[in-house]
This record gives sequence, structure tokens and C-alpha cells, in this order.
Amino acid sequence: MGILPGQQYFGRRPDDGVSPRQWKIRRCGATEKLIGTCLSHDLIGGYTHWFRGRTLPCVDPSTCEACQASTPRRWHSWFAAKLTKFSELVIIEITERAVEPFDSWFRQHRTLRGVCFELSRKGRKENGQLCVRLKDGVVPSDQLQSIGEIDFMLLRMWEMPDNVPMREKKAKRDGDEPGTAVAP
Ligand SMILES: [Zn+2]
Repeated sequence: MGILPGQQYFGRRPDDGVSPRQWKIRRCGATEKLIGTCLSHDLIGGYTHWFRGRTLPCVDPSTCEACQASTPRRWHSWFAAKLTKFSELVIIEITERAVEPFDSWFRQHRTLRGVCFELSRKGRKENGQLCVRLKDGVVPSDQLQSIGEIDFMLLRMWEMPDNVPMREKKAKRDGDEPGTAVAP
């Protein structure tokens, strides 16, 4: 007997990955310790402005409205993570200065997936320098939740069209997965 109409529609569980609407961007607060496991293979980052009350990616400085209004632009990097507290799935935002420890870990281990991180603020101040501690995770990376690329999630949060290219890492490194670069 052939497949009944509609039979291929049903599945036992939803596809891997979580609807972007369920994700939110999390920054480390002044007095908290943000502890969790990284789910992304590597950081992605880009320049953004805080412009007219919202985050605006600086896609092309020559045509960027915020650049023309002389609004400062800052580099941020993002990665998907599962926080230890309540197993919450979030996108963590870190500052340019906090990238280095993640980058070193990536170069050594060829992936950030599975690394346990602890973020806190120097001096427990709202905009204090981010302190990063990384250590081996306890869950093998193949047993971690699989997630898609987070660039589309970010673009949707910022209400940008999906075809806006994110700036990629400056240089290709060992361990970079083929095919993950975004078209120029
Ligand atoms: Zn700009």
C-alpha cells in the first residue's frame, strides 16, 4: 500500500532549532554571573549602532543613516547558549574586548560548542569590562542541542531583511566549517 495523503506531514518531534521568536539577546548584568554552555560553533559579530531607541546593524557605512548622524558604532559578538539557570536558550552578546578569550579557545579546540562560560562585570558596574572564564564542558558536543545559524535570528530581531549580509570573521582559521561564510 502506498503512502496515504498527508502521512508525510507528521513527525515525532519538531525540527531541530528553536523558533527565533523564542530567543532573546542577553547581556551580562552588573552584579550577575552569567553561566552556561555555548551552543554555537563560533562567534559571529558585527558593528551596530544604538539609534532611535533600537539596535541598528551598520551594514554599509557609506549609506548608513546612523553613521551619517555621527552615532558611534560598536563591535559586538554573539553566540547561542544554554544558560545553567532554568536551561534557558539565549543569544549572548559580548563586547569587542571580551572576544579574545573565546577566540583563543576556538583556535585551540577548533570549536566553541560545548565550552562552559562564566561572564561577569568588573567592579560589578553596569558597563564594567566583561570578565570571561572558559572551561571544558561536561556534556559532549554531539549531545548538545543542535541549533541553526543565529545570524537570521538576529536580523529578524532587528527587523532587517534576511538577505542583509553579516560581516564575517576577518580571516578564515583552521576549524572553520566550509560553507558558513555569508555571501559578500
Ligand atoms: Zn553605521
